Amino acid sequence: MLTDAAPRRKSRELFGESDRMRDLVLPDDGRLQKIAASLEDAMKREALEDVSRSCAEFLAVASDFYRVPMCSIRVLAARPLRARERSTIELFGDYQPGGRLIRVWMKTAVRKDVTSFGTFLSTLCHEFCHHLDFERFGFRDSWHTRGFYERTAALYHHSRMTPVKRIFWVPVRGGRWRVDWSRMNRGR
Ligand SMILES: [Zn+2]
Repeated sequence: MLTDAAPRRKSRELFGESDRMRDLVLPDDGRLQKIAASLEDAMKREALEDVSRSCAEFLAVASDFYRVPMCSIRVLAARPLRARERSTIELFGDYQPGGRLIRVWMKTAVRKDVTSFGTFLSTLCHEFCHHLDFERFGFRDSWHTRGFYERTAALYHHSRMTPVKRIFWVPVRGGRWRVDWSRMNRGR
C-alpha cells in the first residue's frame, strides 16, 4: 500500500484532513458480517449473481448506516480492459464518483485466477470508502492517504470479524508513505 502524493494548492488542506482521519465509526449490529459471510459462500461457488446480490446488500446496509446516497454495483466476471488504476487495489475494482458506481471483478486480468475472498472484500470496502469520501466527508477528490487506508481497513476487519492491526507507515520519496510490512509483522 502506497499513498498518493499531496496535491498542490487548493485541495491540500482536505488531503491533510483525509490523512489525519484514521478512524471510521462502525455499526454495532452484525449485518455487514452476515452479508460478508454470504458473499464468501457465493464466491466459493463462483455464483456471479449471488455475489452481485451480496455486494448490493452490503452497499445498501453500509450506505444506510453512513447516511449517504446509495451507490450502484456492477460485478464483472473479469477485469475490463480499460480500467482506471491509481493503486494496486484498483487491479480488482474501481469507483466512478459521477455515476456513484462501484465495479469489482471476480477474476484477475493476467492469469484469470479467481480473486480471493479477502482481496475481493477489501476491494469492495476500498471502493465504498471512495464513495464515503465524496458523499459523507465532502472531499473534492478521494485520495489514497494513510487515513483512507486505515478507514478502509477498519471497515474490512469489522465486516470480516478479523482483528484490526495497527498500520505502521514509512515515508518514501515525494511526500508519500508506504506500509512498513516488517514492523507490521512484528506488531511494534
Ligand atoms: Zn482507490
